[in-house]
Amino acid sequence: MPAHAVNKINMAELNHNYRGRMIISELEDAVGIQNVRLLDVDKLPHSVDYYWIPRMWVDRGKKPVYPDCVVYPETTEQVSKVMRIASHYRIPVTPWGGGSGSQGGALPVEGGIVVDLKRMNKVLELNTKANTITAQAGIIQQHLEWEINDKGYSTMHLPASIGCATLGGYLAHRGTGVLSTKYGKIEDMIVSMEVVLPNGDIINTLPVPRNAAGPDLNQFFVGAEGTLGIITTATVKVFEHPECRMFNAFLFKNMHDSLEAGRLIMNARLQPTVIRMYDEPETIHQIERVFGTKLEKGSFLVFGFDGEKEIVDYQMKKAVEICEATAIQNLGSKFGEQWWKNKYKFYFPPYCLDLPQAYGTMDTVATYDKIENIYWKMKTTCEQFPGTRFIAHFSHWYDWGCMMYDRFIVDPAFVPEDPDEAIRLYQQIWTECIRVCLDNGGVINEHHGVGLKLGYMMQEQYGPAFQVLSALKKALDPYNIMNPGKMGF
Ligand SMILES: Cc1cc2nc3c(=O)[nH]c(=O)nc-3n(C[C@H](O)[C@H](O)[C@H](O)COP(=O)(O)OP(=O)(O)OC[C@H]3O[C@@H](n4cnc5c(N)ncnc54)[C@H](O)[C@@H]3O)c2cc1C
Repeated sequence: MPAHAVNKINMAELNHNYRGRMIISELEDAVGIQNVRLLDVDKLPHSVDYYWIPRMWVDRGKKPVYPDCVVYPETTEQVSKVMRIASHYRIPVTPWGGGSGSQGGALPVEGGIVVDLKRMNKVLELNTKANTITAQAGIIQQHLEWEINDKGYSTMHLPASIGCATLGGYLAHRGTGVLSTKYGKIEDMIVSMEVVLPNGDIINTLPVPRNAAGPDLNQFFVGAEGTLGIITTATVKVFEHPECRMFNAFLFKNMHDSLEAGRLIMNARLQPTVIRMYDEPETIHQIERVFGTKLEKGSFLVFGFDGEKEIVDYQMKKAVEICEATAIQNLGSKFGEQWWKNKYKFYFPPYCLDLPQAYGTMDTVATYDKIENIYWKMKTTCEQFPGTRFIAHFSHWYDWGCMMYDRFIVDPAFVPEDPDEAIRLYQQIWTECIRVCLDNGGVINEHHGVGLKLGYMMQEQYGPAFQVLSALKKALDPYNIMNPGKMGF
């Protein structure tokens, strides 16, 4: 338990005791009687997100940790009132967006109040002069896109979970979309935001994201995973639809060659919208399956450009030249376009990983001089576990390095039926693989976040620097009521 944790209210009281009923009536006063839910039918869906452990747990017939109640505020003022009540009684509060997070970040592991933000789904302003849009944080990202697509705009934040995750969830997790290589991650897209602090105060960050008025408050709350406050409104960038968007795909002899080609495209500062490269096992596992085409053995790489046609033609020509120097086959634009059309498909049934397999996406990021070594070391470590495979694609590329979407998959025959044993195996794989990543200069995560899953590695990741984060947390949330048990707090 964190050092600053203090006695919190025994939440079982909420349902069974007159004092609890008094607190419930305060919450009902804050958000409306119909928006405070105490039934199991409301609690169960707020106790399992996309993290493998709770899914396996429920699959094995075990009860997950329920919140004591779920509240659905509609305005920032209502969120503030809920936080004031929680702060007064020291009740744990867990923000809930779409529940699509893979790290257990939204799980109410200490019970208490889940604040489900999905009623806070209004678009407040599209500003076509400043190229920004302001919306409540509970809006599903796809709805935000639909609101502006017909008007000629896009946020260019297009993650595979676009239909089931919220703007606030992406901000809380430092999410990223398929076009990140040109348009940035969500932390590059944020302009300003409104946050409700653990004590209920409502604050706003500065109106523009580039300034020298001290450290950047946006970046303080982005990635905090609801441990420092609840993001209620956000202003993010919008972009006009590009005149054209083009893709091309190549096959390389091996992952080393395709990784190098991707690096050279970035080095040439050609500004691709996306580069996605698949190692040899994932080229077979995903590309061949989704495309329904047999390829020669090798590593698949696809890239795209968008903007004015003349510029895109030039960028494309240069990138193709780079790849043709070492690729074994130019698969052409048809394969590239096919990949773009299917871009979300990889993450949904029947192509995604699912129970009864055990699986995890390790989402590793490192500089170009280190990433390939980390890939091989993590693969070796992972595949020492019986019945376990390691596959990866490389999704988000920067000037200095790239992100590896590396996954382990344990064959169902090797996943213990006993849920406690299954957790033991699962934790062992994570711990050993992540240690290898850290020991070789990687960072534990690029966009899925830390959550419950990786909280125990934060001290190892940061070393003495973790005290800075802990001190900030303690200053803002002295009773550790905001999403306790996450991010190592
Ligand atoms: C099929 C699938 C594909 C995916 N693809 C991608 C992808 O391409 N890119 C990507 O980045 N992620 C992806 N993810 C992961 C997931 O969608 C992201 O982590 C997303 O950011 C979670 O958003 P959510 O609204 O579902 O948040 P939740 O899962 O509800 O919550 C996540 C965390 O954010 C906190 N939180 C939620 N809302 C707020 C708020 N308003 N203020 C403060 N804290 C808050 C929660 O407490 C929790 O800690 C994918 C997931 C799935 C299931």
